[in-house]
Amino acid sequence: MLVALAGGVGAARFLRGLLRVHAPSDLLVVGNTGDDLRMHGLAVSPDLDSVAYTLAGLADEERGWGLAGETWNVGDALARLGEPSWFALGDRDIATHLLRTRLLAEGATLSEATAEVCARLGVPVRLLPMSDQPVETRVEVDGPGGPEDLGFQEYWVARKASDPVRAVRFRGAEAARPAPGVLEAIGSAGGVLLCPSNPVVSIAPILAVPGIRDAIRAAPCRVAAVTPIIGGAPVRGMADKLLPAWGVEVSARGVAGLYAGLADAFVLDTVDAWQADAVAGLGLQPVVVPTLMRTVEDAAALAKAAMGAL
Ligand code: GDP
Ligand code: CA
Repeated sequence: MLVALAGGVGAARFLRGLLRVHAPSDLLVVGNTGDDLRMHGLAVSPDLDSVAYTLAGLADEERGWGLAGETWNVGDALARLGEPSWFALGDRDIATHLLRTRLLAEGATLSEATAEVCARLGVPVRLLPMSDQPVETRVEVDGPGGPEDLGFQEYWVARKASDPVRAVRFRGAEAARPAPGVLEAIGSAGGVLLCPSNPVVSIAPILAVPGIRDAIRAAPCRVAAVTPIIGGAPVRGMADKLLPAWGVEVSARGVAGLYAGLADAFVLDTVDAWQADAVAGLGLQPVVVPTLMRTVEDAAALAKAAMGAL
């Protein structure tokens, strides 16, 4: 069994490639829930849904997030009613949140609700949230009027990542427990993959759940991480704004430094081949291959290279 730690869109694209070269029944995905939020009373889990929609073949390829064939009537109507409109939810997407919210209200855990949502969407792999307890990624910024403590989506979507970041914290992490099955899966895994996700707000929240980092370190298998940074910049997203807040260089070797002592191998892009020695110096086996996932074939080749390092 392979275990993959996953954020949202970057992870989803990688995992779709992985499923071209690896059996879905032999993969367990542990997803980030640090971005989860309540919107219009609905429980929204953006990263779990990005993975679920993509692996079920339902994602909108052009927009890069959300569901294909989406419409926006409910959001428009809510805005007309004076409800907040900064976080766009499509009509079909809302159906997912309605189902999840009902299941949670009836007493299901987030793991149980996620399993049910995935089964109904036709997701071919087991997807577990990192925890059933809330862990909230908070971004402390220098706002226009002074220091502010923002929820991740407020920082990223409402404020468009425009404020200088002072700190990133995972509220609730100390009291959270890994979701049932996560530690067992890691302990018996044949390999662990850290997807090409944002290291600060996608992978770090998962590792902040007490027990998960230690379980990966203690696992008898190898661990391979894939860079989300190519040529000193994220392919998409805000890693360039968040890595410096942790004093980390925006580069493949910078990310490798975050995974030193945890991963055995680090997959970096051919354009960053000159950093391979630095990666090796951190104690990680460098694997240099093209890492830009333009097509599912690109993603499959990247996944194959990562699996080859396990
Ligand atoms: P989010 O939660 O939806 O932002 O998704 P993730 O954290 O999983 O993914 C965002 C990260 O994926 C960003 O840091 C991107 O640089 C990275 N990413 C996106 N596309 C690619 C790609 O084609 N190749 C690589 N190597 N990284 C990518
Ligand atoms: Ca995310």
